[in-house]
Amino acid sequence: MSSTDPSSVNLLGLTRPALEAYVSELGSKPFRARQLMHWIYKRGEGRIAEMTDLAKQFRARLAENATVLTPQIVTVQHSSDGTRKWKLRADADQAFEMVFIPEEDRGTLCISSQVGCALDCSFCSTAQQGFNRNLTTAEIVGQVWLANRELASDSAGARLASQPQAPGRAEPSAPPRAVTNVVLMGMGEPLANLRQVVPALKILLDDFGFDLSRRRVTLSTSGLVPQIYRLAEEVNVALAVSLHAPDDALRDELVPINRKHPIDELLSACWHYLDEQNGRSVTFEYVMLEGVNDSLEHARRLARRLAGHPAKVNLIPFNPFAGTRYRRSPMPTILRFRDELIARGLIATVRRTRGEDIDAACGQLAGRVIDRTTVRLGSRTFGLAVQP
Ligand code: SAH
Repeated sequence: MSSTDPSSVNLLGLTRPALEAYVSELGSKPFRARQLMHWIYKRGEGRIAEMTDLAKQFRARLAENATVLTPQIVTVQHSSDGTRKWKLRADADQAFEMVFIPEEDRGTLCISSQVGCALDCSFCSTAQQGFNRNLTTAEIVGQVWLANRELASDSAGARLASQPQAPGRAEPSAPPRAVTNVVLMGMGEPLANLRQVVPALKILLDDFGFDLSRRRVTLSTSGLVPQIYRLAEEVNVALAVSLHAPDDALRDELVPINRKHPIDELLSACWHYLDEQNGRSVTFEYVMLEGVNDSLEHARRLARRLAGHPAKVNLIPFNPFAGTRYRRSPMPTILRFRDELIARGLIATVRRTRGEDIDAACGQLAGRVIDRTTVRLGSRTFGLAVQP
């Protein structure tokens, strides 16, 4: 499962049509692809030798040429609130992170799409490390696969996994999965890595893949307008947009991509996205920075821009990190801001901060492999849980 042979194909990176083509190349019938996906995604099996109902010869050929290879775990941290953060290896000294957030009725996995980020939002700690590289489709899909496997083996995951799955969907032989929702809100700008992200989303949605409904997969973007139009043509998932300011002058400062794609253009792209996808609403994320964007006047201006549109606003209390010049707005300010939006006809909520004690909250993900002494690298660390 953790072969490092570079010539072998990683099955986690292949959409169903690509897997069908690959299986044909190996001289087998395309329906084998669905059988394979059943093993990989429904049963969480990564060892080809264990896929016992595949014809022996096919299994042998497959085992010679392919693997199910997930990113390696460097560390795992447990928050007192049940949130869990894994640091995953990207390269020798670079890592990326994923965060699992358990709730009563769901288990949300927040995944990364890039190592680092090039967008330089002034309040985000990922921006500080700069951009390292895009994650591959297999690394993106691999996060969800790996989290399900890790969580299945412990009680927090097992408790969630015992919740009923989508009716009529779960195969009797398939163990339930702890990850019910996926948000692309980890490190990176997913729309700057569309080439790898789109196939990953397709695998998340595919009935033979993770089989998640489109409302349970959310892509968050800082506002890459042309790519929102492209996404609308390619795949159907929920859209969240990091707005953070009601006007261009302030947004230029907080989210510099705004200088290229100002708010009006961004909002037009959002409404287009909903039309194309028959979607219900776009979620606008708004980080609450004390004295910067959190006055009632800001709330009124925001409401003027969004009222009458299918928009929801999600207020995110700022999560501080070393070296930042910003402070979190006090909770009464955040609640007043929320109430002002509601009074003006918007749906507005405050995001509950989770995993703060392990730096797993929004904007706190970073990608250095810090503690190399306690963690042995290589395939033997696969699945190793290292307590902080
Ligand atoms: N690049 C994408 C995906 C990141 S999602 C995007 O910008 O949407 C993470 C969310 O957390 C975004 O809304 C981001 O703006 C927000 N965020 C970043 N840094 C934060 C911080 N320090 N505190 C709270 N939210 C933050």
